[in-house]
Amino acid sequence: MFDQLEGNIWLDGKIIPWNSAKVHIMTHALHYGTSVYEGIRSRNTTLFRAPLHYRRFQQSAAFLDFEVPYSISTLVNATQLLLDAGHYNFGYIRALAWCGSKSMVVSHRNSNVHTAIMIWERPMPYPPQIYQHGVTLHLASWRRPCPSSAPVHSKASGLYMISAMAKRRAELEGFDDAILLDTKDRIAEASSSNIFFVREGTLQTPFPHSFLKGLTRAFVLEQAKEEGIPVIENDIYMSDMPSMEACFLTGTAVGILPVASVRTAECLYQFKPDSITKRLQILHQKAFCIF
Ligand code: PMP
Repeated sequence: MFDQLEGNIWLDGKIIPWNSAKVHIMTHALHYGTSVYEGIRSRNTTLFRAPLHYRRFQQSAAFLDFEVPYSISTLVNATQLLLDAGHYNFGYIRALAWCGSKSMVVSHRNSNVHTAIMIWERPMPYPPQIYQHGVTLHLASWRRPCPSSAPVHSKASGLYMISAMAKRRAELEGFDDAILLDTKDRIAEASSSNIFFVREGTLQTPFPHSFLKGLTRAFVLEQAKEEGIPVIENDIYMSDMPSMEACFLTGTAVGILPVASVRTAECLYQFKPDSITKRLQILHQKAFCIF
């Protein structure tokens, strides 16, 4: 279905029809996971924080020892061109850079790098009542890898095998999403969003030892500072859960999403969106034109 959408795709500097954007089966990234991506939001023709996303895109590739062969301004301009030519209400931009078919040995030393940008209509993933009451999570059996085993600060497609497995298992068990711990038992994040807690008027979020430092997470930290909400970035364990009063997830695709409950084998922790969560949701909805 996603190969049949209307519109155009920017591929290696050219704008081509959506269904002409194909890759060969001998693509290095398909065999060895040598690709990185970005997800950016737009509202009508306004792009949000695109230079920051494209800077992370380049850094993600650098973690994997390859280079996106375009500058940030070229990527931003290409995205704006696609956006202006289409009719997107809640647009989602996906940029992808991957090692191509020039070489088929493990090392991508001699690979060619392709870059593509595509946009599709992608409203907020949950209905409004979920944004009021929250999603249900369970504790994943999969963990975020330790930073010496994988490029944990890269938005590397290969790492999303872990996210896909965690999210799929959560769905199979009847939950919306999963919380993943790291290899040192610290709470890390959900399958594709960062996590925050509120305790005694203070915002708490895990220190990013083993996960992507989300741009929505950065937005929340900025806003908290402006609003005078104290923030603690530290190591948080499941044993801290009983003292947490509210919990929410942050991400480009999900926005600011309250958590209603977290299920573990032994316990059910329940949360209600508090005034800090609601205030941050309003600020985020305003800044990203979500209404
Ligand atoms: N962690 C993971 C694994 C993600 O995929 C995402 C979504 N990009 C995030 C966190 C949140 O990052 P951001 O706010 O930049 O979208």
